[in-house]
Amino acid sequence: LVDPIAGIDEEAVNRASRADDILANAVVVPTLEEAIADCHWAVGTSARGRHIPWPLMSPRQCASHARQLVDAARSHSEEEQPQVALVFGRESRGLTNEELHLCHAHVHIPTVETFSSLNVAQAIQVLCYEMRLAALESVQEGNGELRWGVEWDHPPATHEQVNGMIHHMEQTLVDIGFLDPNTPKQLMTRLRRLYQRAAPDRMEINMLRGMLSAIQRLVKTTDSNNLRK
Ligand code: SAH
Repeated sequence: LVDPIAGIDEEAVNRASRADDILANAVVVPTLEEAIADCHWAVGTSARGRHIPWPLMSPRQCASHARQLVDAARSHSEEEQPQVALVFGRESRGLTNEELHLCHAHVHIPTVETFSSLNVAQAIQVLCYEMRLAALESVQEGNGELRWGVEWDHPPATHEQVNGMIHHMEQTLVDIGFLDPNTPKQLMTRLRRLYQRAAPDRMEINMLRGMLSAIQRLVKTTDSNNLRK
């Protein structure tokens, strides 16, 4: 639960109707970034299209992709099991663009166009049902598709690791004068979309950060040499 407007009170317990253990174990965090920091794949749900197009899936495609991620990591240790987040918005006004941009993909439940906004509990039910079907299918088949078709050598990066790299890149782009922090336009949003779409693994993130650090060192020494001259 991200910064909820109400506490877990009697009404919430009554509405949970025998699922109050879920409420009791709910973790409350102040920001979405913190909520999905340890996740490897996050999908945001939305009732309407947004300004910058983002990878868009149906609930079924979303469940199938989540299943593939989990199946591909079957031989990995407990700590390396991929964490998938389904992100739902406020009943009143959904998710902000910034929140949706933190997600790798968006899911839209294909309602009739004239009435696209479902009640949040109903939207959650539709996604959970698809996840459940996909999980059952996975157990039946015993062996799902693997990530990129093979057993991968490095675990996927978490949201926090990709985010850290993107912030590092932003700083580097400012350092080299490519990004003007006063008129950033949509540059970082588009780069975020690119890197989240690529679904980098942990090793790839480390390589990118190594490159960024090398660029920053070079900029620093060039700057101080110029100062000395
Ligand atoms: N006015 C808001 C609607 C909020 S509905 C908006 O346009 O986004 C509350 C939440 O239910 C949404 O944030 C989303 O998480 C989910 N939801 C409602 N309708 C949906 C749909 N058609 N597809 C996917 N998620 C939906």
